[in-house]
Amino acid sequence: MSGPLEAKVSQLSEDELAALNADFEGKSPQAILQWLSDHQDRTGGPVPLVSSFGADSVVLLHLMSGINAGYPILFVDTRKHFDETLAYRDQIETQFGLTNLRSISPDPAKLKAADPFGALWMRDADACCDMRKTVPLDLAMDGYVGWITGRKRYQTAERATMAIFEHDKGKLKVNPLANWLAKDVADYVSNHSLPGHPLIPKGFLSIGCAPCTSPVKEGEDARAGRWKGQDKTECGLHVAKG
Ligand code: SF4
Repeated sequence: MSGPLEAKVSQLSEDELAALNADFEGKSPQAILQWLSDHQDRTGGPVPLVSSFGADSVVLLHLMSGINAGYPILFVDTRKHFDETLAYRDQIETQFGLTNLRSISPDPAKLKAADPFGALWMRDADACCDMRKTVPLDLAMDGYVGWITGRKRYQTAERATMAIFEHDKGKLKVNPLANWLAKDVADYVSNHSLPGHPLIPKGFLSIGCAPCTSPVKEGEDARAGRWKGQDKTECGLHVAKG
């Protein structure tokens, strides 16, 4: 790549970002991750992979481990995860030889003050997500220009038009799997014999915090089990603000 794309990606104008996206639209997730690992001069530093260690997370984690096992990976431990998710995180870390995985958590004092009984999710899920996910991640992101997500266009209407490289709240957000369908994920997992999240066989096809995640029925959208019965579809990490 050349021309305006010599500038740091996080500082590109929207037109330049569109040009970068055009360059990468047909590229594989492997190629995008390799480029991110190799071109930290272009991105302005490492762009960590933020993983929920949920149902689909294993694909990006496996891809990245094959490129650079020391690449920074962040996990937001909301203190509301399923025990199975925490065990799965530890299993993947060991199995893939990840050497730079960091778990970040909400501030215990703030948690005690704002959610003393751990039930804020029942009356104000947005405030709960903000305190347990968005704020800790924002703090952890202070030293980084952006982050990598596992989002895919097919998942929700909101995600249907997202680009591979996006600007969000002054940060760069990279979505290497944007073009992948559920079948691509399943094929990759199967072809590489990757371990699945232990709750998948129980009908959990999109896995977040335990109180806000339900199993889905056959034929139902995978994310239908997230915040079931509420209008909420995103935790706040992926809602562009300002
Ligand atoms: S997903 Fe539920 S429990 Fe987790 S942070 Fe959001 S509202 Fe709280």
